[in-house]
Amino acid sequence: MSEKRKVQIVPPEEFGELKMVPPKDKAVGMPAVISTMKHISKEMGIWKGLKLLNKMNQKDGFDCPGCAWPDPDGKRSGLGEYCENGAKAIAEEATDRRVNPAFFEKYSVEEMSQWTDYKIGKSGRLTDPMYLAKGSSHYVPISWEEAFQKIADKLKSLDSPEEAVFYTSGRTSNEAAYLYQLMVRQFGTNNLPDCSNMCHESSGSGLSQTVGIGKGSVTLDDLHEAELIVVMGQNPGTNHPRMLSALEKCKNNGGKIISVNPVPETGNNVFVDPQNPMALLKGGTTLTDLFLQVRINGDVALLKAIMLLMLEAEEKAPGTVFDHDFINEYTAGYDAFMAELKQANLQEAIEQSGVEEKQIRKAADLFIQRKKIIICWAMGLTQHENGVDNIKEIVNILLLKGSIGKKGAGTCPVRGHSNVQGDRTMGIWEKPKDGFLDNLDSHFGIKTPRHHGYDAVDSIKACYENKVKFFLCLGGNFISATPDSQLTGEALQNCDMTVQVSTKLNRSHLVTGEEAIILPCLARSDKDNQKTGFQFVSVENSMGIVHKSRGSLEPFSDKLKSEPAIISGIAHALFGSDLINWAEMADNYDTIRDHIEATISGFDNYNKRVRDPKGFYLPNGARERKFGTPDGKAHFTPIALPNRQVKEGRLIMMTIRTHDQYNTTIYGMNDRYRGIMGERRVVLMNKKDMKEHGLKNQDVVNLISEFRGEERRANKFKVISYDIAKGCIGTYFPEANVLVPIDSVAKGSNTPVSKFVEVRLEKM
Ligand code: SF4
Repeated sequence: MSEKRKVQIVPPEEFGELKMVPPKDKAVGMPAVISTMKHISKEMGIWKGLKLLNKMNQKDGFDCPGCAWPDPDGKRSGLGEYCENGAKAIAEEATDRRVNPAFFEKYSVEEMSQWTDYKIGKSGRLTDPMYLAKGSSHYVPISWEEAFQKIADKLKSLDSPEEAVFYTSGRTSNEAAYLYQLMVRQFGTNNLPDCSNMCHESSGSGLSQTVGIGKGSVTLDDLHEAELIVVMGQNPGTNHPRMLSALEKCKNNGGKIISVNPVPETGNNVFVDPQNPMALLKGGTTLTDLFLQVRINGDVALLKAIMLLMLEAEEKAPGTVFDHDFINEYTAGYDAFMAELKQANLQEAIEQSGVEEKQIRKAADLFIQRKKIIICWAMGLTQHENGVDNIKEIVNILLLKGSIGKKGAGTCPVRGHSNVQGDRTMGIWEKPKDGFLDNLDSHFGIKTPRHHGYDAVDSIKACYENKVKFFLCLGGNFISATPDSQLTGEALQNCDMTVQVSTKLNRSHLVTGEEAIILPCLARSDKDNQKTGFQFVSVENSMGIVHKSRGSLEPFSDKLKSEPAIISGIAHALFGSDLINWAEMADNYDTIRDHIEATISGFDNYNKRVRDPKGFYLPNGARERKFGTPDGKAHFTPIALPNRQVKEGRLIMMTIRTHDQYNTTIYGMNDRYRGIMGERRVVLMNKKDMKEHGLKNQDVVNLISEFRGEERRANKFKVISYDIAKGCIGTYFPEANVLVPIDSVAKGSNTPVSKFVEVRLEKM
């Protein structure tokens, strides 16, 4: 094995210029408009930026590359259907900065790896296919044909298809995802990890087992009509900002909102709609009626306490709290669940939740009084050892109320990347169902592999153990998105070849295998012109609506290729086109959609229906009380109190994002809503904990995580006194990912436990 390059795997331990200001008490409004303007004017100029934004999330436009929040079915706002973070995402991809061959000639991979992730990302759009040879320090240009051939040759040289891994990020369109999984399965493996493995896998697992579909059940209209919405472990103001409009509509219709989080987030507090002059004048709408500051991982305990109080009320006045008609007709497992619930101790549950009893009683009253309830959640629920149980407990409480499969009620896992849900629908999954593989086999005349492949965590471990020699990423920034950064970096360096299909430079281009290839692709906002003319792609949002997306910006270089064209090029070099006509699919995406229609249910008349400007809803049994479980029932699950404790003197760390960040893309250095400006290496800490640890504001500490006798270290973080639950701390990712142990995963979903890391602090 040749020597590995001496690159910096984890972000450098350097400080910016920290400035603290009071956290904001209102979200969006004029400050968001000003921030939007600043970002677009800096990256591409104000007029070009505004013109482009006018096309985003419009019926004839392109889908925001940010989160998967749905657009209204009906009329879209002429003033813009986007948020500050959607605008930042588009400013990043339509930036005028370029990473071209001259850039790569100037900087070695070692040198670039010393930069912060912010600086790497700000370098700009990739212009040319690039190749990093074994033992070389600099990328050099390579032709597309040569790049495809090198990839095909490497794949053909492997001892087994299992030595290759093919990762997908949630930006990938339906068409590209379908082609990709087809190529990978024709090659002979199901090693198809995706970003869903690291975020909502626990949701998919918990929901599939209980209500028979791994997706949420609600629509946007349901949110507007709900009597009670509970937002758990989620920060919509930063991560899904247009959700605030839906919450506001719920409030205007008389609904109530409970927010559950270890940190009060501005976005859940007051929303000022920037498109509403009255809101700007009057100061907006208070969204949260009741804030419950749980201890990290106190969610099951909180729900348990609420259910115990509901049970008390039900026993006093039978039939007034629980929906027995629904329970009798549509559910299974009620008796076993009740037996478990009755054994739980209310005081113990209250104590474990970290929330005051009187607050919990208020929440229980809202659950008791209301019949149309929606629970929304994100990573704060899923990235725990008991992440799957968290979701099952959410289902339990909704089933008690009959709050699923009717207007204004149901499950709402909020997806974080624009097509993460669609990619899974297209077959990007390491555990595909036999029925889907049978369809591929009979439709294409291939023989797909049946054994399950590696998910994200298992892929990293397999690379680390030298079982994998080839790693291709279709989008994303794998090294910065994954846990245990140092180990993950070393694992990727064990590969013979790593390949990245990307729009912009990121750390994953710098922490590579012996050989590395970068394939620059078109972005969502770019026009996509193929042999048969301009193409559009399609995506599926968080609520199961499939719709088209057509870019409108002239690509800045004719060297860029679309993702379908790139996959088709690799597949053709690998297999030729005798069995599957890869070139035909890249030339005309209607052909891909015809294949999708023939092999995946729910896509009848795909090419016709996707041209409807509104798109179309995919079938969702839970929405109609037709549960896709083996017995057709929705299932209650007995869940014990998790009671996860840490050792004396240790704290529970969760990783979080800043407001200037989307997933691994860092748009700026400020966390405006939290009032933390100019610095990312910070630890948000409760002031009582600071006192107990003898710390004051801006003291510098090292963080050491402890897991099964192993220690991991991230040095140099500034302590910040913050309103976070006692015993808990918050740190930004990717800087703190190095502390998340690779073996610390959710039971039943293998999702990294990024929200419960036991750490000790070491004062510098
Ligand atoms: S809410 Fe999500 S999808 Fe909508 S504009 Fe913002 S980032 Fe984009």
